[in-house]
Amino acid sequence: MKKNSPREELRELADLTLRYVRQEGDSLPMQPSGKVPDDISQPAAVELDADKEMASIDAAVLACEKCPLHRTRTHAVPGEGDNKAKLVFIGEAPGGNEDRQGRPFVGRSGELLTKIITDGMGMTREEVYITNIVKCRPPGNRDPLPGEIESCHPYLVRQLEIIQPKVICTLGRFAAQCLLETKAPLSRLRGKQADYNGTPLIPTYHPAYLLRNYTKEARRQVWDDVSKVVEILTI
Ligand code: SF4
Repeated sequence: MKKNSPREELRELADLTLRYVRQEGDSLPMQPSGKVPDDISQPAAVELDADKEMASIDAAVLACEKCPLHRTRTHAVPGEGDNKAKLVFIGEAPGGNEDRQGRPFVGRSGELLTKIITDGMGMTREEVYITNIVKCRPPGNRDPLPGEIESCHPYLVRQLEIIQPKVICTLGRFAAQCLLETKAPLSRLRGKQADYNGTPLIPTYHPAYLLRNYTKEARRQVWDDVSKVVEILTI
């Protein structure tokens, strides 16, 4: 009999959980809408089992119905990579390819990001962690709405608490603005090291932007940003 991959097993588990929750309805001790269950939102006081903790977040995201984006998604996309990575990339939201495959940064943007990681940083994709501000695709790839970001944010917060990266690299205007809680344009944010709750944050362009503007200047700027990330990793 064909053995399912861990991700397929996780998805089946999420589907089973969702079916159970729907069947049991009001009899379950559900949290109010928009609130992450306590076992996800509270920092662990003891040493974390990162894989186990991350698996529970993945399962919660795959079954999540906290915002309207669950109605139009094909797959939720929690994120992927090393659960103890020193570097975390954060984009805006899954696009069409990501929604179909349930994986972050696939398709042409994903290929370019992988190239930046391997050729630009001398690392592998498996060594880093890649996720997004919201875990489900907004219809038509529109910007996520404030309520959607607010509903989804606890998942990202918990992912970062588990991973405890040495540096965060945001991809595109939206991710940088969300994490730094600013409306400043990316032209003002990139090129400078920022701080997210004590972790260095380097904003750079989204690979999709780079694909549309594959100019010498844009590539040089990304190279500068990536060099800064590598410098922080090697301190
Ligand atoms: S975007 Fe986030 S909060 Fe909204 S349904 Fe998906 S996982 Fe849940």
